[in-house]
Amino acid sequence: MDTWARTLSVAILSLVIGFIMSKLAVEKPVDTAAPAYSDLVTEIAEAPLIVAPVPVEVPPPEPQPLPVVFPSVSYRYEPVPVVAMLPVTPEPDAMTELEKQADREVVSAAELPVEEWPPEREYVATLREADTDVEDGFDSLEPGTLTRMTWRAGESLYGSSIPTPILVAEGVAPGRTLCLTGAVHGDELNGIEIVRRVMYSLDPEKLTGRVIGVPIVNLQGFERHSRYLPDRRDLNRFFPGNPRGSSASRIAFSFFEKVVRRCDALVDLHTGSFHRTNLPQLRANLLDENVLTLTEGFGGLVILHSTGGVGTLRASAVRAGIPAVTLEAGEPLRVDDRAVDHSVKALYSLLDDMEMYQRRSFWGTPEPTYYGSLWVRADKGGMLLGEVKLGKRVKEGDVLGTVTDPITNVKQEIRASHSGRVIGMALNQFVMPGYAAFHLGVETSDMGTLPESQSAEDIDHSVALADGVMDERDDSDE
Ligand SMILES: [Zn+2]
Repeated sequence: MDTWARTLSVAILSLVIGFIMSKLAVEKPVDTAAPAYSDLVTEIAEAPLIVAPVPVEVPPPEPQPLPVVFPSVSYRYEPVPVVAMLPVTPEPDAMTELEKQADREVVSAAELPVEEWPPEREYVATLREADTDVEDGFDSLEPGTLTRMTWRAGESLYGSSIPTPILVAEGVAPGRTLCLTGAVHGDELNGIEIVRRVMYSLDPEKLTGRVIGVPIVNLQGFERHSRYLPDRRDLNRFFPGNPRGSSASRIAFSFFEKVVRRCDALVDLHTGSFHRTNLPQLRANLLDENVLTLTEGFGGLVILHSTGGVGTLRASAVRAGIPAVTLEAGEPLRVDDRAVDHSVKALYSLLDDMEMYQRRSFWGTPEPTYYGSLWVRADKGGMLLGEVKLGKRVKEGDVLGTVTDPITNVKQEIRASHSGRVIGMALNQFVMPGYAAFHLGVETSDMGTLPESQSAEDIDHSVALADGVMDERDDSDE
């Protein structure tokens, strides 16, 4: 093909392409809605701002002078609970009405102050580790000191008896001797803590007379977390003991002769037993005038009348002419700080009343409250769930708890048979029909009509007791 022809064909092809392109350009829709300038400005303004890191050179820090720090002490103030002082203890109905109106728990003035007293434990005693045997007597003790002494039961498996520590606060002036005994049942921990707090917060230089504190009477049980002695005997069924009797009887005899007979008054510290817990309360034989007088010194505490079982430390001491009471607080195998604290304050109140140690208090001593008591039982077996708190005032018919059959889902309510106060109760657990679940205290002012308060033991194991099987497992509180 010659040059002219090639040029012509290119020209024709260009025309054809140009025609097609022009056709296409006409077919293409024209964008008539082009963004206005103001729209573009808005779009830019609203677009996300993207910031890219720019390396900047940081100059090295200049050394600064260290600030001078002064030691400071901070104090924390507990809010004071709002209380309404009531002149008398109203009926439970009135209390419930008051609670409704106030929308909070209402406590009667008679039982308020013991818990609300300001803390008194400022003094911490220094212990002298003399380790003198109590058998050698207390005469060698220096006035105004706290001393660790030792009691040996003279009875053990390996020929050498276990030395049991005894704390003795010797006052500067002669006076009465108050004895505190803890863990006669080895699994009851609150009493051990109560003895420690009382003994170490007493200033012996301000003490008149003597305080003997035995934190753990049943050391063998305590070491095994058990209520009993190693032979499964309950030490608190063998007082005052017998030097030729069983092992338990000999231990009881030794303790009674060497320690208890040196006391002018005795407080035996216990807890509820076997999955039951107690509001701090005294068990006392109120038919004994000296015991009744002793109970009056404890201040605002719940007091139940009970003569005390055969062989208990309390009943044996009273029989020997030593006024004695049992202080029950909390449950076994646990330390209940609130119950311990309440009990310690009650014991300080007693020390003040016995003119042994002056208590600093601006509340005055509230009167103790005397109660008769009764147990409310579960009628069906099942899972027991408590619906009330320990210490709660209840009216007859109030629901105390429920028992639910785990298989049939049938639920039974346990209701209060009388109006009163929950002074002891079973912890949540599986119970059999007839199980004593709630201990109700019914206030009374007439000593003559005070019924004997039964411990859980009396109701749950009366058959064993009647058979005289005293050293078998029972559910005694004390
Ligand atoms: Zn006990």
